[in-house]
Amino acid sequence: MAAANTPGPGNAENAKNAENTGTAENTAGFNTRAIHAGQEPDLTTGAVVPAIYQVSTYKQDGVGGLRGGYEYSRSANPTRTALEECLAALEGGGRGFAFASGLAGQDTVIRALLRPGDHVVVPTDAYGGTYRLLNKVALPWGVEHTVARISDIEAVRAAIRPGQTKIVWVETPTNPLLGIADIATLADVAHEVGALLAVDNTFATPYLQQPLSLGADLVMHSTTKYCGGHSDVVGGAVVTARTVAVAGFEDAQERIAFHQNSMGAIAGPFDAWLVLRGLKTLGIRMDRHCDNAEKVVEFLQGHDAVTAVHYPGLTTHPGHDVATAQMKRYGGMVSFQVAGGEQQAVDVCGATQVWTLGESLGGVESLIEHPARMTHASVRGTQLEVPANLVRLSTGIEDSHDLIEDLARALAKSAN
Ligand SMILES: *Cc1c(COP(=O)(O)O)cnc(C)c1O
Repeated sequence: MAAANTPGPGNAENAKNAENTGTAENTAGFNTRAIHAGQEPDLTTGAVVPAIYQVSTYKQDGVGGLRGGYEYSRSANPTRTALEECLAALEGGGRGFAFASGLAGQDTVIRALLRPGDHVVVPTDAYGGTYRLLNKVALPWGVEHTVARISDIEAVRAAIRPGQTKIVWVETPTNPLLGIADIATLADVAHEVGALLAVDNTFATPYLQQPLSLGADLVMHSTTKYCGGHSDVVGGAVVTARTVAVAGFEDAQERIAFHQNSMGAIAGPFDAWLVLRGLKTLGIRMDRHCDNAEKVVEFLQGHDAVTAVHYPGLTTHPGHDVATAQMKRYGGMVSFQVAGGEQQAVDVCGATQVWTLGESLGGVESLIEHPARMTHASVRGTQLEVPANLVRLSTGIEDSHDLIEDLARALAKSAN
């Protein structure tokens, strides 16, 4: 494995290696990169899977004589390096960083790149934890924000404070209404005012959407979701563009590397290994998630008790054309509204047997939830409030007829 690419700040050789890896690997197809990038067979044993380097420190050959740049596992660990290289290759970025959670990565982005007095534009339907981080942690620290409908370019322009806005934060598709933001246009809008475009790519994954190729400067993930894919790990990632051209942020990559090491919210070796294993099947899992979601959407559209279905793959979805232009397919997340109001939505969530009632998303098992009382309960009464009769589905990779029969049974039962 390419152990020389260690995330030590100010190590020119590492930066060079990261770039080389990126360039060489990126000529290969997505699935080839997912399986091989950062994961060459072990030099001494030939093991085809990177080892879980469950270790904190490394023997030095004389003082300062590091083998492959490793000295302490907060700074760098070979299992984490493998994951970080793979993430960078999949997003087409300059460098990847793996964190203990999605929010740990986002916190690092905020603290590494912003200063008191700076301002962020954040989507109305941002992930609740992201909004809480900006509103309850960053705001008291002096970083301000304005909430804007990110699918509406004019609303984003109106929310920008030229000279003060340093990040335009994007999620697309959004949670739970599957709103779509135009990444390429927003990159131009952000760059015109000297701000970075940071995209939370958790819902789409790099298999379906590559924000850096559309002009974004940073991509963030909760790898807890599709990247890990098996509901068995909590993790986060940040990938920086090969070149960040926004004035004052040319060193964004070094600043994130420095903060990752200084604050220490890193992914542990076993967690990094689980995400790395998940990434190997990301492409085939996403295709199956999409296949199943499309069939579930078709079923829901034909059901009497369903008044609205939210899925970017529908031609009636307001973001359909943008989604078609920037996504390979439309993903595994679906939400729908029921005629019987909040009570029916709650009843449906409680009546399924194959779909598991629970928060989170992106695993192989299908999940169902009631956003107004579960994932989005904290935004009730705010401008981020979601409809009370909304049900959110994370379509897994089970057999689609089982998923559809289960939903049909639950809808029938809830109507009684
Ligand atoms: C889950 C999630 C996060 C937060 O990630 P954690 O791993 O839970 O910290 C951020 N953004 C989106 C879109 C998410 O779904």
